[in-house]
Amino acid sequence: MQASTLTDRSPSFALLQWYDRNARRLPWRSPPGTPPPEAYRVWLSEVMLQQTTVAAVQPYFARFVERWPTVAALAAADEADVMAAWAGLGYYSRARNLIACAREVARIGGFPDDEVGLRALPGLGAYTAAAVAAIAFDRPAVVVDANVERVVARLFTIAEPLPGSRPAIRAAAAAITPSQRAGDFAQAMMDLGATVCTPRNPRCLLCPLRPDCRADAQGLAETLPAKVAKKAKPHRLGRAWWIERDGAVWLVRRPGKGMLGGMRALPDDGWSARADGDGRPPFAGDWRGGGVVRHGFTHFDLDLQLMLCEGVEMVHHLVKGAAGEFWPVDDIESAGLPTVFAKAARLALAQR
Ligand code: SF4
Repeated sequence: MQASTLTDRSPSFALLQWYDRNARRLPWRSPPGTPPPEAYRVWLSEVMLQQTTVAAVQPYFARFVERWPTVAALAAADEADVMAAWAGLGYYSRARNLIACAREVARIGGFPDDEVGLRALPGLGAYTAAAVAAIAFDRPAVVVDANVERVVARLFTIAEPLPGSRPAIRAAAAAITPSQRAGDFAQAMMDLGATVCTPRNPRCLLCPLRPDCRADAQGLAETLPAKVAKKAKPHRLGRAWWIERDGAVWLVRRPGKGMLGGMRALPDDGWSARADGDGRPPFAGDWRGGGVVRHGFTHFDLDLQLMLCEGVEMVHHLVKGAAGEFWPVDDIESAGLPTVFAKAARLALAQR
């Protein structure tokens, strides 16, 4: 659909006026009316923000741009260092895609400046391509994240539940996306959804879109967007092994493909490959229960039983032929463990 023209009667004009006064100050943003931020910062922040809150992303973003200030620096980074720096943000395939994409951008000499070129980069989806095209290059791309979905579903009273309503929401968003200030418009919609058109208790009295909003006029704001009821997540059981010797714990590197691929971790019984791990310890030893970690992944919930062993001889037996390393327990924070194993480590340390 064609981008709309910005006139002082259009909803996008009212929204941009609101944005000029109320834009969120975020480290990857440029204030309204100033030159756009570098594509590297926009891309990095958008990848980090997928499924993750702004508050959680900010310290990670700061550390990444300090350590790897350009896409070329990130492309040249050691993959294990990037995975470790990502630890705790979750959805680790994002980090692997990040490295692949950075290397391709470095190879071709910079980010393409339109949606089609961006979409051709490895691991860069339709949403991220649109966001980078709009925010970094001011292209009139249609940027629809969860916040924008909510605003648009309400503005046009799109009653069909998500995800089936996505094409209609996208078409409606395209109809109000202006051909000028497209980057500011995209960010303004995100900000409005995050701060005014919130899932519960939307602040309609403060909203610049209120004169055009059908949901507000019909008293339907909080009921939209409708969602298909979620199925309960399956439940898995597993065990992880805390093997300690001389103030150091045995950590393995998970296989590159599959869940938490390439990350440092405690050894476990294979719960990530099957619904219930096989429960067998890696060697016969004096194991004792160390409590249970509950963790929610996207597609299942996990109860991970932590088992502790401090038998030096047994450890020696395990280490023979096994790929891993002893990591100082006092420095476990810098091992870059994914959240489920970081929780298990905290549980083990609480018992010392
Ligand atoms: Fe959302 Fe209310 Fe604004 Fe409509 S008027 S867009 S429901 S905040």
